[in-house]
Amino acid sequence: LFAGQSEFVKGVVAMSGLPPADRMEVCFAGRSNVGKSSLINALTGTKGLARASNTPGRTQEINYFTQGPDHYLVDLPGYGYANAPLAVVEKWQRLLKQYLSGRQTLRRAFVLIDARHGVKPVDDEIMSLLDSAAVTFQCVMTKIDKVKIKDKDAVLKQVQAALAKHPAAYPEIVLTSSEKGEGIPTLRSIITTLE
Ligand code: GDP
Repeated sequence: LFAGQSEFVKGVVAMSGLPPADRMEVCFAGRSNVGKSSLINALTGTKGLARASNTPGRTQEINYFTQGPDHYLVDLPGYGYANAPLAVVEKWQRLLKQYLSGRQTLRRAFVLIDARHGVKPVDDEIMSLLDSAAVTFQCVMTKIDKVKIKDKDAVLKQVQAALAKHPAAYPEIVLTSSEKGEGIPTLRSIITTLE
């Protein structure tokens, strides 16, 4: 369904650089190293499509990919860089806010959470940003293959508790492993059935 239909469109550094809003889009947000590039590559079945978000120079860009003729997948800059200069952080936060509140064709945000770590304060901040922008967001747990079955419930409960505080949260949590392919078909079908 998805494989081989994706291409990199462009990296955007300002609202004026966004591609025409001629199709629906979903965006992906998450702390650096959460597994965002791996997830986008797994979703699209295109290895090396999304580069690691910590590739120098790409961290402040909103990266657009096509997904077939009808969708854009949008890779938001990774957040949670402890040592990024304040001016840089402020610049992309501004862009992020403008994008989230101004993009008519944005249908859903996926907030990626490392299944080993649960929701961190910076994740909570991005969720609040999504609340204020009134963008429905859904949590995607990454690296679920790294979590023991007996620990899954505890991390899910922590995430559910965090989501309960956010009016824009969509309650269903998607468990994924880009490595094992778990949850990838589910996420694809969520994206393709969005109106
Ligand atoms: P990004 O910075 O969010 O784009 O993260 P990457 O996709 O570059 O992944 C960060 C690290 O986590 C890499 O070493 C990946 O191989 C690893 N990783 C990503 N997804 C998974 C997964 O589903 N399972 C496991 N075990 N490791 C993963």
